[in-house]
Amino acid sequence: MLSPITSEKSNRKISSFIKSKNSVIMSRENFGSDADGFYGEISEADVHIITSSGLRIPTHSTLLAAASTVLESILLRPQKRRSSDKTIRILGVPCDAVSVFIRFLHSFTCTEEQMERHGIHLLALSHVYLVPQLKQRCTKGLAERLTIENAVDVLQLARLCDAPDLYLKSMKFLSTNFKKVEETEGWKFLQDHDPFLELEILQFMDEAELRKKRTRRHRKELNLYLQLSEAMDCLEHICTEGCTSVGPHNKESSQKRQPCSKFETCQGLQLLIRHFATCKKRANGSCLRCKRMWQLLRLHASVCDQPEDCRVPLCRQFKVKVQQRGDDELWKSLVRKVVSARAMSSLSLPKRKREEEPRMNLSHHQVINFRLAD
Ligand SMILES: [Zn+2]
Ligand SMILES: [Zn+2]
Ligand SMILES: [Zn+2]
Repeated sequence: MLSPITSEKSNRKISSFIKSKNSVIMSRENFGSDADGFYGEISEADVHIITSSGLRIPTHSTLLAAASTVLESILLRPQKRRSSDKTIRILGVPCDAVSVFIRFLHSFTCTEEQMERHGIHLLALSHVYLVPQLKQRCTKGLAERLTIENAVDVLQLARLCDAPDLYLKSMKFLSTNFKKVEETEGWKFLQDHDPFLELEILQFMDEAELRKKRTRRHRKELNLYLQLSEAMDCLEHICTEGCTSVGPHNKESSQKRQPCSKFETCQGLQLLIRHFATCKKRANGSCLRCKRMWQLLRLHASVCDQPEDCRVPLCRQFKVKVQQRGDDELWKSLVRKVVSARAMSSLSLPKRKREEEPRMNLSHHQVINFRLAD
């Protein structure tokens, strides 16, 4: 490349380094502070690493072989030139990054600053030379440093280096910040050079949107079943203990009782019960509110586990009818969902807490077919 090396462009060069790590790309970066003091630590070097700019980094073959199987097999290869001086070339990556890499093979550590400066190159090196400890460190380090500017590069690199965690994280980052990422040079470069990855990203975003919609729908449904399950609790409680002025026929109804903890739901149900008891249109089946009450009573019978002495009206009659004729599949599936919502709500909160929880505002929710009050 003839143009000056910007950080983005040098990032892009890494892919060519990974694809053909022998290709020589002249780095214009000077060998900097990362190597200072490094020579001092190496007393009896038996191998030298040669970088793009011709720098020789002394090191130990046993340490290299222990840290990387790829370097081990390179060391075992017979040398082309007859010389006692063993050398390994690591080209196409800035000298500083190679120096940090070799240092990592000695100590298995690198600083946050080194990660900040060379993370992308270190990931490429860890992948090519099979150093899992460094790869893990880079995956974590780069995921923490995702920005609008580098997201596309990191994603591409994660895919090239087979780093699934980093791939997923940068994909998520990219899809949540897509409006801004779309403006970057990285994205424009990707559109021109990697249409398959562009498609992959767009597909991921589509699926993420679908997942969100599915979750929303699921939550809405669950809410409906939870409300029905609460209505079942209230119906039983009204018919056995009574609530405010509505209660079982054999209990004193003039005596005002305190509103219960689920009064929002309970009150709607009480209004419906009052209506059901006096409605003139009930008999000819033209009253929607009575139909609703009828369905709630039928639902109660379907979830009721009291054999004989249940006090909810029509419970026995419905049970006998089901025994004779059975239920349709749609109704059975509704019952199953209400039963599991009931089990779930009783599991999710301890009983004492349930009493204190804020009441569901039923009047604000459209309960399909089962709205308690109009
Ligand atoms: Zn009540
Ligand atoms: Zn009616
Ligand atoms: Zn019952």
